Amino acid sequence: MIVTTAQLYKVAYKKFAVGAYNINNLEQTMGLFRGNMQSKAPFIIQLSKGARGYTDKRMLEAIIRTAEQIFPEAIFAVHLDHGDEQTCYDCIDSGFYSSVMIDASHEPFAENVAITKRVVDRAHAKGISVEAELGMLGGVEEDIKVDEGHACLTNPDEAVEFVKQTGCDSLAAAIGTSHGAYKFKGQQSLRFDVIEAISQKIPGMPIVMHGSSSVPVEEVQRINAAGGKLDPSARGVNENEYLPAAKLGVTKVNIDTDGRLVWMRVHREFFRDKPADFDFRPPGKIFMQAYADFIAHKNEKLGSAGQLDAVRASL
Ligand SMILES: [Zn+2]
Repeated sequence: MIVTTAQLYKVAYKKFAVGAYNINNLEQTMGLFRGNMQSKAPFIIQLSKGARGYTDKRMLEAIIRTAEQIFPEAIFAVHLDHGDEQTCYDCIDSGFYSSVMIDASHEPFAENVAITKRVVDRAHAKGISVEAELGMLGGVEEDIKVDEGHACLTNPDEAVEFVKQTGCDSLAAAIGTSHGAYKFKGQQSLRFDVIEAISQKIPGMPIVMHGSSSVPVEEVQRINAAGGKLDPSARGVNENEYLPAAKLGVTKVNIDTDGRLVWMRVHREFFRDKPADFDFRPPGKIFMQAYADFIAHKNEKLGSAGQLDAVRASL
């Protein structure tokens, strides 16, 4: 069942975080639904601009609507990830999306406010909620690249003004994470002080954490042992920090890179071990189950595992 993002946030806020997972194809979709059913978790499906253009946006919608029929127990929202203004309007008008993200965080504050406000007005008229971003994460995500030198943490006082002026429903904040597989050298912690300051100044505002993959060392080692060339010193967010962050107001946690690593590991190992094989279904089947197990594991760390009945009861 597709619900609004607000319905999920209402149950999750300061108790657990809802996992937001990007999909691009049917294998990911099947793994995603299975993993959430395995762990009895509500979830958010994220579609990026790149994913919408990978085949055709209607293909993704059809896959999701079919998955909804195959898994009638599932409760989830459909969200546009990192939209520009035009893509937001397209999703708002489609009637398919629960929420959109407008990302104008690369613009100066006043321009970010103006663009976000326009999207909020149009979205709210259709009952769709809006995630907006303030502060800048470093790293690479699709066509967005921010050098570490230009990345900046969200200023909590600016966040108060931003939310007041835009009327956005959730806030993507830069709280010490970055996009992509190359996040940190060595161990780095989330900025719990910034999370706490934002949630104290804007009570009830769900905070969204982008770039939350953990880039597990074992996964990188397995990929490289099967011919990959990932930087072995890459580190991500410590998964054990998801839940403490959730208790402070981080209500949506975006995880994409770790899922791509699962895809890469399964396929590299499969074709390394079976170099004469040319059927795409055997590795696809392995991937779907591996992705389901991965999702179930993440949901345990987010605290969303086992929350499906609580969400159902609240609807
Ligand atoms: Zn992001």
